[in-house]
Amino acid sequence: MKKMQEMILAEGKVLPGGILKVGSFLNQKIDTAFLAEMAEEIARLYGGCGVNKILTVESSGIAIAAAVGIVMKVPVVFAKKHRSSNVDGETYGADVHSFTHGTDYRMVVSRDYIGPEDRVLLVDDFLANGQALNGLIKIVEQAGAELVGCAIAIEKCFQGGGDALREKGIRVESLGMIESMTDDSITFRV
Ligand code: 5GP
Repeated sequence: MKKMQEMILAEGKVLPGGILKVGSFLNQKIDTAFLAEMAEEIARLYGGCGVNKILTVESSGIAIAAAVGIVMKVPVVFAKKHRSSNVDGETYGADVHSFTHGTDYRMVVSRDYIGPEDRVLLVDDFLANGQALNGLIKIVEQAGAELVGCAIAIEKCFQGGGDALREKGIRVESLGMIESMTDDSITFRV
């Protein structure tokens, strides 16, 4: 998506440790007009695929997931992040390592909110090593639901998470695909 590349170049700041800060349009201040464009594009990509539920993880995935849910007219479920990895029997869950915080957490979803009747689209703001998506995929599997694919605002291709999923045959669509980035330059996958 051309506009995503333009926004990243205009607004993105590369932080130490390979983190891209896009707080001015996605992660703290939300550019609602652009969010709507992102959602329209994701809905176009996955139109006709029978998606009936969107799954993301709190907190930064919620805005884009909700926007996609509005356009696709389907409910949005977000996994909650718990510090402990206690398994309570009422939730589906997966243990995940957070790339941005360097800590481990358990993502959980109530068994009431996802089930075998669901065709699920995973949506998130960033894709880096793929830990968050892999956790969500485990939850989809536990629920006996069908995974339709993944839709991401910004993929950092150099971290390999997206390509590892594609190699497994999972559809991954990213609106901005960063091939490499340094303090003063960002290049995109063409
Ligand atoms: P992964 O699990 O794929 O390694 O990382 C994806 C998750 O970490 C996303 O849910 C996102 O919130 C966060 N994340 C990863 N890389 C970045 C980044 O460069 N910038 C921001 N703002 N978040 C990131």
